[in-house]
Amino acid sequence: MSHLLVGLTGGIGSGKTRVSDMFAKLGVSVIDADILARDLVAPGMPALRAIEEKFGKHILDNSGMLNRRELREKVFSDPEQKHWLDNLLHPLIRQELVKQGKEAPSEYAILAVPLLVENQLNKLVDRTLVVDAEPQQQLKRVINRDDVSEEHVQSIISHQASRTERLAIADDVIDNNGELSQLQPQVQKLHEKYLKLAKISVKA
Ligand code: ATP
Repeated sequence: MSHLLVGLTGGIGSGKTRVSDMFAKLGVSVIDADILARDLVAPGMPALRAIEEKFGKHILDNSGMLNRRELREKVFSDPEQKHWLDNLLHPLIRQELVKQGKEAPSEYAILAVPLLVENQLNKLVDRTLVVDAEPQQQLKRVINRDDVSEEHVQSIISHQASRTERLAIADDVIDNNGELSQLQPQVQKLHEKYLKLAKISVKA
């Protein structure tokens, strides 16, 4: 059972996956909000039934899985539907994140939440860890990784929280503006700090 929940966040391409993989290698449980959100709408789950009731059968594909593209298109053009969907999924995601985080076998758990700042999920965790990279680095890395246009990435960056907003709520920051080799020592240092904090919270 973990005694400290650390929310890990950062903008697109900031290096969250790289960092969370390093924590995982150190034996820390990492709970990924994106995976968890997908699992909540798997066939047979109550949330998928609610979505089907709201939008009709055509929101599912032939194998009964959620047609995400169709759903995205529906809510994209209709704020009311988007609001309905967020109201359904967000509380479930929050609840499940904390549950899985607390039940995790490591002394502390990392909750990897890309939109932590945007959805104010920093309130759920004991500490917020921000992976920080300049927009120029984010652009370069995502274009390299995904083979997408600069405009595409720029548009995502501009719809996300700004670097300043993220840093304003950070308790800890990993600087990922340099070489990949500079990440590991920062992760190691934080790991030791979180182990200590987790011990203190057991005693408290
Ligand atoms: P997303 O928000 O899109 O899920 P992310 O925050 O998880 O992205 P990563 O996938 O970890 O980011 O990193 C983005 C890309 O940049 C990857 O291809 C990764 O290997 C690369 N990368 C990350 N950090 C560095 C670095 N310091 N130097 C060079 N490349 C890097």
